Amino acid sequence: MNDDPIKNLPFPGNPVVPQTFDESKIIQFHCRKGITCWNACCSNIDISLTPYDILRLKRRFEISSGEFLKKYTVPYEMEQDGIAGVKLRPVESGTACQFMTPEGCSVYEDRPTACRYYPLALLSLRRQDEATDRASYALVEEAHCLGHKEPRKISVDAYRKEQGLDEYDELARGWRQLILKKKSSGPSIGKPSKRSLELFFMVCYDIDRFSQFVASEGFSDIYDLPPEELKNILCEDVELMQFGFRFLRQVLFGEETITLRQEATQERRARHLERLQRIETEAAARRAMEQDEMYDGPD
Ligand code: SF4
Ligand code: SF4
Repeated sequence: MNDDPIKNLPFPGNPVVPQTFDESKIIQFHCRKGITCWNACCSNIDISLTPYDILRLKRRFEISSGEFLKKYTVPYEMEQDGIAGVKLRPVESGTACQFMTPEGCSVYEDRPTACRYYPLALLSLRRQDEATDRASYALVEEAHCLGHKEPRKISVDAYRKEQGLDEYDELARGWRQLILKKKSSGPSIGKPSKRSLELFFMVCYDIDRFSQFVASEGFSDIYDLPPEELKNILCEDVELMQFGFRFLRQVLFGEETITLRQEATQERRARHLERLQRIETEAAARRAMEQDEMYDGPD
């Protein structure tokens, strides 16, 4: 099972652009217990996780996000010099999913988005002139998957509902938009600093560490959140996750929606001025040196 639609999927190695469609498309597919290919898809995995996938699974296992990441995931780079993603870690020295059992998926109720979508690939594309993303899909037809030969016909919309994807997509929207924004802004934003990449990783995937950060004095020194909102964010992990996406939009793209404390704003302004002055002083010194060289003339 491969879930990387943006890269080369749905047909790796095939130069033909796959046919894409919307929710009204009728597909022929049924995965059922007892089918000859049972578990074939989970025996060779490449599953990227959304922040909400991690939240559901770590909640299921009653462990911290840090423990979950360590035991069940591997990080990867979504694009060169770009932001990090997280994939399910297969079994030791193998390719099968750690959650696969002979009876099927042992975390079925909390299975990740990519597993729910299969055999559809979600291509979350945004047109330049649109403010929000619009979903389109493609069908992944892998030889080992016999679900395509089953007689059931179903619309993409009904399939998404059957797989509980409305909730999963809604709660991953903020994260997907961040990625789209980063990809579409390209070099104009420049190579992200190591610190902003680490911040992205913590906020999106290591939610318990982000919670500690938001609860820290350092955070309250900079951000002026109403006490009720802060309490709500710290008590509800879904709220915290959504707040995290907002926080990243502010830190990475300057979309200021979280009030900064006045002192912090002044400090930031002072640091900015200091930097400008330093750049100007350096430029003046460079100009003076160039003029000296001009007057000295050639030896
Ligand atoms: S999480 Fe479940 S459905 Fe997804 S690959 Fe693992 S065993 Fe298969
Ligand atoms: S029908 Fe496809 S999705 Fe279902 S078990 Fe077989 S390979 Fe996996």
